[in-house]
This record gives sequence, C-alpha cells and structure tokens, in this order.
Amino acid sequence: MEQASINIPSSDRDHHIIPYGRQCIDQEDIRAVIKVLQSDWLTQGPKSKEFEEKFAEYCGAKYAVSVTSGTAALHLACLAAEIGKGDEVITSPITFAASANCALYVGATPVFVDIDPDTICIDHEKFEEYLSKRNVNIESLQGTKPRAVIPVHFAGLPCNMEPIYNSAKERGLVVIEDACHAHGARYVSGEIVGSCTYSDMTVFSFHPLKHITTGEGGMITTNSHEFYERLITLRSHGITKKNMKSGGFYEDYYYEMQMLGYNYRMNDIQAALGISQLNKLDSFLQKRRSIANYYQSAFDDLKDYIVMPADNNGDHGWHIYVIQLIKGNRDNVFRALRDKGIWVQVHYIPLYSFPYYQMLGYRKGLCPHAEEYYSRTITLPIHPSMNRDDMDRVVEEVKNAVKADSRKK
Ligand SMILES: *Cc1c(COP(=O)(O)O)cnc(C)c1O
Repeated sequence: MEQASINIPSSDRDHHIIPYGRQCIDQEDIRAVIKVLQSDWLTQGPKSKEFEEKFAEYCGAKYAVSVTSGTAALHLACLAAEIGKGDEVITSPITFAASANCALYVGATPVFVDIDPDTICIDHEKFEEYLSKRNVNIESLQGTKPRAVIPVHFAGLPCNMEPIYNSAKERGLVVIEDACHAHGARYVSGEIVGSCTYSDMTVFSFHPLKHITTGEGGMITTNSHEFYERLITLRSHGITKKNMKSGGFYEDYYYEMQMLGYNYRMNDIQAALGISQLNKLDSFLQKRRSIANYYQSAFDDLKDYIVMPADNNGDHGWHIYVIQLIKGNRDNVFRALRDKGIWVQVHYIPLYSFPYYQMLGYRKGLCPHAEEYYSRTITLPIHPSMNRDDMDRVVEEVKNAVKADSRKK
C-alpha cells in the first residue's frame, strides 16, 4: 500500500531511487522535537494548542482540532456531525480508503459518485444528479438517505466546491472536505482550502507523504463552535468538564463522560514538529509547484502519449503528480520506470472494487470514469527535496518508457 512502498531503505536511496513522495525534515524540526522531549509535557499540551492556533490562522478558519491521523480526523468529523445508521455518505471512489471507511465506522453507508475525468475529483453534476434521482442502485442502499458528502481534493486540485456546497445545503447535507492532499491549495474563488468557505469541516493528514508531517497526525478545521466543542470532547473519550449535567461535586476532580469518544489526541512531540513544518509549508508548496510546472512543459511533446494533470481549478497543491497513458500498457510502463529507479505509484484503485466493499454489495462498473482512469494512471515523483537532476531523470525515463511501450504494438 501507499505507506509500505515508500519505506525505501536509505542505502537504496543512495543508489538513486527517486521515491514518489517523501518528508522533508531539517535541523530546525529536530531541535523543536528535542525541546519538547526535555520539557515537562509530552502528551497533548501547550504545543498542541499552539499548533492548532497557527494552523487555524494559516487556513483562515475559526477553530482547528489536532488528532492522531487524517483517518481519526474523518472519523471524528462524522461523529461530530452525528452521522450514523441509515445515513448515506457520498464520496469519490478515487481516494484513499479512509475517505469512505469513516462512514462505515459510524454505521453509515458510503455512496460512490463518479469522478470528472478532467479533474479526477467528484463530478459535481453527477453528485447533483444522484441527489435528485438517487440513481445508484445497490442492495445496502435500501432505506437509507443522503446525509453528508466528503469531496476529496484529489492530488491537491481543489474540487469545484461551490456547486457541491449548494447542492448539499439545499438538501441539508453536511459537507466534510477531505483535504489530505491539499494543504495550502486555493479554490478558484481565491480562498484557501481549510477555511471551510464551502464546508462544515475540513480534514487534513500529516502522514510523512503529505505536504507537512508530524510522523502521524491530522487536523480538523471548522467555523462552527458547536462542531468544535463536540470534536474536542470526542477526541478525548467523550469526557468534559464543561456544561456538566450532574452538579454538586468538587470541581477539581469531577468530570463527566457525556458521549462515547476515543483517544485521538495528538501529542506535543508531534505538535512541535507540526509547528516547525507549518513554517515551511509555503516554501514546500512553491517547490512542488515548480516541479509540476517543469513536468508540464517537459511533457508537452508527449501529448500523443500521455494526458497531463489538470491545473485549471484554483491553486493546485500538487500532493501527487499523476499522468494518464493514452497509448501503451500502464503496468509495462510502471514496471519499466521502477526498473530504472523511478519509484512510481498508482493512485488509486477504485475503492469499491476492494474485496471488503465487494462483500458489502458494491459491484464493478459502478463508476466507469473512475475505472477507466485507474487503468491508465501512474504517479510520478514530486516532493520538495528533489533536485534538477532528479527531475530531468524522471522526464527522460518517462519519455523512454512511454515511447518504447507504445512501439510494442
Ligand atoms: C492520507 C489520506 C487520508 C488518511 O490520512 P492518515 O493520516 O494516513 O490517516 C485520508 N484521505 C486521503 C485522501 C489521504 O490521502
């Protein structure tokens, strides 16, 4: 899976393997973590609070809640919105498993709406069509009704949020943006992803492959005080000292468990790394954009062979750089590139085609654009520590592999 394939031993990196993504850690990051280790506070404390405040400020959101992973963030967002049994949660099939699994965690039913083949994000017209006609027919949908949508800003390209938001709000749906690819990206309208301009909550991940890392970690931003309070309580077992329902106890020790929560607290070691990384997010983004621009112009003469990623829907975050083959066999090209040390990947296998989802009753053929895209796609390396030589090698090997394979026919 995503995580396993990136754990390339450093000896191999010296033999010029270029991974598709990689964290970027410097002395400043290391010093920030050491300082916490030497302090009195290792668990959630002052650094977590500072990270939340700085992240909220960066996004222009009122509140930010730090958690243990992007997956935990999605789970808590669903719980905070009181999504549950009988509720449909609509998302795209071209995403990491967590975007739909969070619906299953709370007993809800994931519904997959096909992608727009240009942006690889959920097709807002198909989303509206689904809401108006309920035209996806699977067994497990009997008796359920649409309750939430989780648009995924695939590869870092913001979804067309305005029509999605309008369709959702007309029918009272909750909007939770999965921005795990989109730290620092901006919508066409100019606002930054995470501002919750078009959503109730926005979810981020700080896995080492994402724009900034805390080892493992996640964040939820929101402008709703109600969601914020619920998220804070749910993150810590559902325990609170606010608005207590039973009175008359000594407040220094008394607390209440008011709902069933979890331990999803980010610790201060992670948060210190997060603060230090957040300081560099804009420069990381700049580097990612310059690599993407380089690819976009270098591949211009491959127009008969590959489709380059769309870059016309706001400011792209370039979490990953995906091409689609027009000619030739994806697996052959994939293998040829890996043989040359270009550690390509595939994002993603349509979620509903996994055995677990098949067991739940989802069938292949559900989202034809997603399946077509999956059969042609390859993810090329893009991360801030790549240098010009790395970029040139990727371009050259892609040209060789793509042309060699299409000659085979
Ligand atoms: C990485 C990712 C997640 C999950 O984040 P974790 O921190 O690994 O739990 C969710 N959705 C998408 C689109 C992701 O890329």
